[in-house]
Amino acid sequence: MAEGVPPVSTLPYPAIHADKEFIVLSDWDGTITTFDSNDYLTDNLGFGKEKRRQGNLDILAGHDNFRDGFKKMLASVVKNGHTFEECKKILKDNIKLDPGFKDFLTWCKELDIPVIIVSSGMAPLIHAVLTNLVGENIANGIEVIANDVTVSPDGSWEIQFRHPSSGFGHDKSQAILPYRKLPKPPTLFFFGDGVSDISAARYADVLFVKTKSDGENDLSVYCQRERIKHILFDDFSKALPIVQAIVAKQKSIDDYV
Ligand SMILES: [Mg+2]
Repeated sequence: MAEGVPPVSTLPYPAIHADKEFIVLSDWDGTITTFDSNDYLTDNLGFGKEKRRQGNLDILAGHDNFRDGFKKMLASVVKNGHTFEECKKILKDNIKLDPGFKDFLTWCKELDIPVIIVSSGMAPLIHAVLTNLVGENIANGIEVIANDVTVSPDGSWEIQFRHPSSGFGHDKSQAILPYRKLPKPPTLFFFGDGVSDISAARYADVLFVKTKSDGENDLSVYCQRERIKHILFDDFSKALPIVQAIVAKQKSIDDYV
């Protein structure tokens, strides 16, 4: 799907960084944050963890696609009467940053390496939580390529997918593939953790897969099954020295997989 005709995007993309040697793209939920915000909403305000987890596993097994499974999760939150503003507040109060992310970001900024969030979550929620966690100045300097939301006057809301015709809802490979067409393509790092990253996993030069103590390591399972080279990490402080060594050309991905 990803390499054929690209799905039509209903939302704009930021301009690509054509002159950079390295680009960092990262999933947001559960990768830059310690817990997935959409899982948090579903587990606590929607149809609950058990059904949500089964939905993730159905996607991983190919019994459902991400777009439809994710839509069901979020619809269960709306069905229980929770407005978008209420969800935003709950997430700002509960979602935490990966303990190594700020230092990682600072280092990337020093080396002029763009860090771009590529998320299946809804942009207004990401902006609200990110601003809360890192402050407005830093948050405004990070590009976000995500899905969006439609909020109705009665407070109900629905996710607006970037690529509604794709089973991924947001096909994350579309944030990567334009870089491949550049005369001098950069080295692309991608960080992810879950089923929302399956669309990107094959297309990064260096794929980092986050592992978590709760055992919800779906991307790791997928990459092992599909034999996609990846480096496991449990927080950004562990990934930083590896990225530094690759950027300094002292090491390559094959030294780590
Ligand atoms: Mg994630």
